[in-house]
Amino acid sequence: MSCLFCRIIKGEIPSFKIYESPKVFAFLDINPLAEGHTLVIPKFHGAKMHEIPDDYLSEILPAARKIALALGATSDDTFQYNVLQNNGTLAHQVVQHVHFHVIPKPNDAEGLG
Ligand code: 5GP
Ligand code: ZN
Repeated sequence: MSCLFCRIIKGEIPSFKIYESPKVFAFLDINPLAEGHTLVIPKFHGAKMHEIPDDYLSEILPAARKIALALGATSDDTFQYNVLQNNGTLAHQVVQHVHFHVIPKPNDAEGLG
């Protein structure tokens, strides 16, 4: 199996692990759009979301929620973020193993007085 993200799950390629459960793995994006940009992936190989069994998919959003909380999400708007998932090259998917991006949206105006 030469899939990059399957190799990351197995530890054959190093990553900065953020979260792991029996069906889910999460790690920092190597080319982050913002500090804390995390990828949440099923431990089941499939290129697109519809190829992933429900019992794997159903653990992805709870994991993404934990990660958002760990990154600083609260009940107010202090921490804001995107959750994105691309299916197919036309939809800007580059790595052919399903992944959900959790991307913090820093307030660039912060600290500018
Ligand atoms: P896509 O465009 O397929 O939705 O996003 C793929 C993401 O995987 C990109 O944000 C890219 O930076 C990330 N990525 C690609 N190769 C690696 C890698 O080897 N390690 C890590 N941690 N992230 C990677
Ligand atoms: Zn894979």
